[in-house]
Amino acid sequence: MGGILLDVDGVLHVSGHPILGGGRAVSRLREAGHMLRFVTNNTTHSRRALAEEIRSFGVELEDEELQTTPLAAAHALKGKRVLALTMPAIVDDLEGIELVGEGADAVLLGGADEGYETNQVFSYYNLARAFAELQDGAELYCLHKNRWWQTSRGAMLDAGVYVAGLEYATEMEATVLGKPSAAYFAAALDALEYDPEQTWMVGDDVEADIGGASAFGLRTILVRTGKFREEALDEATVKPDGVIDSIAALPDWLEAIDR
Ligand SMILES: [Mg+2]
Repeated sequence: MGGILLDVDGVLHVSGHPILGGGRAVSRLREAGHMLRFVTNNTTHSRRALAEEIRSFGVELEDEELQTTPLAAAHALKGKRVLALTMPAIVDDLEGIELVGEGADAVLLGGADEGYETNQVFSYYNLARAFAELQDGAELYCLHKNRWWQTSRGAMLDAGVYVAGLEYATEMEATVLGKPSAAYFAAALDALEYDPEQTWMVGDDVEADIGGASAFGLRTILVRTGKFREEALDEATVKPDGVIDSIAALPDWLEAIDR
């Protein structure tokens, strides 16, 4: 028994298609007495909408068990004036932040989504506005810096390219608020009241999930679904403690090592 941080995208579903056996696995983990926290870098849905979507996959969870990057951003940027280049759906979760068009204390970049229209937020015009604010002294933050993510249509370009672009242009370094940042894992463990060595991170991203969690002292399990690529695992400098076919195999795997 212990804490388990479960990634969502690529672990419980891909583009809204549930991973087979995910709901049953989550129930079995709860029955075995594990404390769960769902940790996602999702930047396209509010927490409430995302929790609703996960429940539609047959996975039982309370809204409060879900940790999203916009909530981490709201916490980190509370009371600040923020120029936010993010997906419109997450604005609800940015409570306590004053969203402004100029005179910002901070520039916040979010992730991309699967829609062409909504990704227009990363236009030359908006990036130039962000650049001007950064030149005027605003600090640079991002929800995550992912290169790409897995969709049902294949790999799609994520917003990390825009974060890296602004870093290049301004010679600043962005503060990452989502995985793999230490702050994100610390918040998840605080909520569970577990220490890192008592907790597993389960994810499909060998860099953001496995590398990030491992650096924070967690034990890690990589699933062969979603973003998983054999080459990425071979090339990874930080290897997971376990590799399983999918979340469906997780309860048995944990039982076996507990014996
Ligand atoms: Mg994932």
